[in-house]
Amino acid sequence: MENISNMSLLSCLVEQTASSIPVVNPANGQTLGFVATHDKLAIENKIQKAKTAQKSWAKTTAKQRADIMQRWYQLLMDNQEDLARIMTLEQGKPLAESRGEVAYGASFLQWFAEEGKRAYGETIPTPLADRRIMTIRQPVGVAAAITPWNFPIAMITRKAAPALAAGCSFVVKPAVQTPLSAYAVAELARQAGLPDDLLVVVTTEDAVMVGELFCQSPDIQKISFTGSTNVGRILMRQSAETVKRVSMELGGNAPFVVFDDADIDLAVKGAIASKFRNAGQTCVCANRFYVHDAVYDEFAEKFAKAVSELKIGDGLEDGVSIGPLIDDKAKEKTQRLLQDAVNEGATIAVGGKALEGQFFEPTILTNVSHTNSIVQEEIFGPIAPLIRFSDEASLIEMANDTIYGLASYFYSKDINRIFRVAEALDYGMVGVNEGVISTEVAPFGGVKQSGIGREGASQGLDEYLNTKYICLGGM
Ligand code: NAP
Repeated sequence: MENISNMSLLSCLVEQTASSIPVVNPANGQTLGFVATHDKLAIENKIQKAKTAQKSWAKTTAKQRADIMQRWYQLLMDNQEDLARIMTLEQGKPLAESRGEVAYGASFLQWFAEEGKRAYGETIPTPLADRRIMTIRQPVGVAAAITPWNFPIAMITRKAAPALAAGCSFVVKPAVQTPLSAYAVAELARQAGLPDDLLVVVTTEDAVMVGELFCQSPDIQKISFTGSTNVGRILMRQSAETVKRVSMELGGNAPFVVFDDADIDLAVKGAIASKFRNAGQTCVCANRFYVHDAVYDEFAEKFAKAVSELKIGDGLEDGVSIGPLIDDKAKEKTQRLLQDAVNEGATIAVGGKALEGQFFEPTILTNVSHTNSIVQEEIFGPIAPLIRFSDEASLIEMANDTIYGLASYFYSKDINRIFRVAEALDYGMVGVNEGVISTEVAPFGGVKQSGIGREGASQGLDEYLNTKYICLGGM
């Protein structure tokens, strides 16, 4: 594969066989290589090995685990360029964004290496003189994860780091489109000294089989999923049978609000970053823009100018900021949503065309109303619908009128409004005068049908720990 200096990162590539899985570059349709496919029996064997390995891992100290994770962090950063190239080749995002994701993904290893040392229990004042009451926190056991293609590294490390820091072992099925990044991260864990069978990557085209196996297995104590709300519902239903702990990072429908007192240039900058990162394929992407009447024309004009300057192309080329969509299905969905919006009365202000291959022009729609289908659905593509509003109360109602509750954004300089609106938005995350809010130190996650649980921050570690109460009697 072109220009990858650390070839051991590609040790997962196998010869093409009847069952091996092709990995395709979405920028040009070329096959990059093949990875192995694991059947049910092979995955069950790996789960058994992960179960055995976890028992020893749980006996190590948090400091011993941290030392390995710090080395792993450093190896990700030392190989940032190779990892970024692999990611751009299989996922399509511009190289600058891939480099950013490698650093973001690595940050969870560094953060949780330290946070694992703070998995404190409690000593609780006793109500009975002959007893002492305390709690300790212990790893849940084997944790399993299913991850999406849009953040091929960060969605794995955001789960694997707290799991391993807590003393769990970790089995992950990455998205079928982006297995190379997953294997590369696992190879660096091996080089960092992580013992065998603690971080296991399984690849298959049969996601349904893996989902059922993970949920039903009595040897897996926890499922962490990032992906669509629909698949999240299926996994929760399946997990009910074994009463498994679940974390769900699901879909979003983020409102992006520009109030009449906003700094418009700052709002345009935030809108570009929030909407068009990864060609609009992130769960926290702004999905619908509510712009106050008084500043609508100014915002629309400046936003349109900024969007028309975005360069579309292969993510490996210099200056490209919009790469291809992940596959034909994603392109068709984007086209359908655009056509529906136009049929419902929207006007294409910028872009609007599907290009050759899997590329789609970054697009702005005006004359959109809150009830249009494009406002109600998660777009997951480079289309920005603009809706006018005139008062704060009706804006809050519209912003909260969705089954989702992941990220939300608004721009205002009025401190009273900032607190009022931030508190009124039914979302797990609110960006105020900022369009990119993800960081390892803050709890990432949603409310309503955007999910359960938090990733990153101290809350991220809780997801992989059980609290045990110990009562000392007869004192
Ligand atoms: P998806 O279809 O739900 O796929 C995500 C993962 O689930 C993939 O690994 C996929 O495997 C697997 N999968 C699909 N069907 C399954 C089933 N029946 N049982 C078990 N696993 C199954 O989602 P996507 O379209 O790839 O990703 C986009 C979605 O993810 C969006 O809704 C986005 O908002 C959400 N997302 C959320 C977050 C967050 O943190 N909240 C972050 C990123 C993305 P295959 O690849 O083999 O199909």
